[in-house]
Amino acid sequence: MKRNKIVAGNWKLNYGPKAGAEFALELRKKLLDTPGVQIILCPPFLALSPVRKAVEGTRIAVGAQNMHFAESGAFTGEIAGSMIKETGADYVILGHSERRHVFGEDNEMIGHKVARSLKDGLKPILCVGETIEERKAEQTMSIVAKQLRAGLADVSAAQMDEVLIAYEPVWAIGTGLTASPEQADKVHRFIRKELQDLYGEEVAAKTPILYGGSVKPDNTKGLLSNEDIDGALVGGAALKVESFAGIVSEAAALS
Ligand code: PEP
Repeated sequence: MKRNKIVAGNWKLNYGPKAGAEFALELRKKLLDTPGVQIILCPPFLALSPVRKAVEGTRIAVGAQNMHFAESGAFTGEIAGSMIKETGADYVILGHSERRHVFGEDNEMIGHKVARSLKDGLKPILCVGETIEERKAEQTMSIVAKQLRAGLADVSAAQMDEVLIAYEPVWAIGTGLTASPEQADKVHRFIRKELQDLYGEEVAAKTPILYGGSVKPDNTKGLLSNEDIDGALVGGAALKVESFAGIVSEAAALS
């Protein structure tokens, strides 16, 4: 099945409301000629509204990088999915390796967040991926399967229309190391097979599976040429308009 390519930029803890809007406006000017690619900008919470405003009327969408699993309540410092939706954002990254490994989020919590995000009308980008120790111990597939199944524990086949998966090997995030196209493809095919077991062939065939881990303009083509790699979740290279636009152009050439 031919799926459109998707390029999402995870800005992490970079660019507030002003810098974020400036970035989005510059990107908007640059990307007028790259149809066929769904672009998603994921700024920090405070920049969601200004960035959304800056890309109004374009095909660039906006997403958050995290959210809480409750609808509301005594959770000091947290942000609810409904609040994210109110900014005009449509997506939310969940289970990013920094949330798992720096902030201690476990599979169960991430599953609750995924379920809540769908109730709030957001499209979750569920991140899964193994550490270098797990890869060396040949546990990549079992770890990815566990994260995937727990993340989707409360998601129905119908809701899968709104779900994106991102395979992000932890050892390739922010390290300059990239999974080879063959390594990435092998895990992507495994994820699609898992989705098939969980939801059947039709759902598995249409669920977008992105790759993340030191994606840059010069390795985009190699990775995204694989049929089962539907796009990229980009960290470092998403922080410069030129490199992010370069990745989008490479993806557009494959769409
Ligand atoms: C990420 O944080 O999701 C990521 C893939 O980062 P980088 O592109 O910098 O490896």
